[in-house]
Amino acid sequence: MSSSSESSQLPDYLDRRGWIVPANLESTTQDQERLTRTPPGVFSDAEFFSADPVQQYVNTHWFLRGQVNIERRGSIYFFAFNQDDKDIVGVNGPYNVNRALLLLANWTPNMSLQNFNIIHTNLWMQQHGIPIEYFHQETLLNLARTAGEIIAADWHADGTRALQFARIKIRVAINAPLITGNYLHTLENIPTWLTFKYEKIFRACYHCGRVGHSILHCRYSAQGTLNNYFDQLAREQKAHTLERITQTMIQVEMTMMMMGEE
Ligand SMILES: [Zn+2]
Repeated sequence: MSSSSESSQLPDYLDRRGWIVPANLESTTQDQERLTRTPPGVFSDAEFFSADPVQQYVNTHWFLRGQVNIERRGSIYFFAFNQDDKDIVGVNGPYNVNRALLLLANWTPNMSLQNFNIIHTNLWMQQHGIPIEYFHQETLLNLARTAGEIIAADWHADGTRALQFARIKIRVAINAPLITGNYLHTLENIPTWLTFKYEKIFRACYHCGRVGHSILHCRYSAQGTLNNYFDQLAREQKAHTLERITQTMIQVEMTMMMMGEE
């Protein structure tokens, strides 16, 4: 028997020739029911954890109604919830296990661990430095769109919320630099820098702006990072006609929130 990678070395007349073998459909159906409430996840951090401390942390901090059983397969962790907890936890995120960002995905039929990869996560972004008179939902959402896809917003419909910062949940590519801020075009035609902070990000690189490693373990060059950063800005802003103000990445201070559990 040969794996698919080996079979690609074979001549055409031998490649992918074989039987169609029937599956045990009864056990597959049972497994599918279980897997719908067992999302697989990975940590964005470079280091791996054994399943036990993850299990202990979740038992203590996640306030689940029932039991969750966590199993690790290599770098992938399966969170076997009961249905109630699965409905509550969802796969929206962000999730935090002992200061590490956990990325969860829904199980989907025919998912193989061989190619399992999570490339997006949801993060709560805080926008700081907004002048009070610009604290308007449309303006805040436009700003958020420059950093990712909007998932949810946290504000009161009656506008009674404190005007210290806006809080919007966005979907971001986990392997791209986080957008650290953008300029607001004010009435006086003066671009005003607003800082974006991200909740529950405990380990971020102050060199490349990515999550999951520190500057000591960064493998990205300054120029490459600057290109990536502007690529990311361009990707998120392609629906907008916003003016880009060039600023070197090194001058942009990464401002990650060091926040505890909610
Ligand atoms: Zn880095």
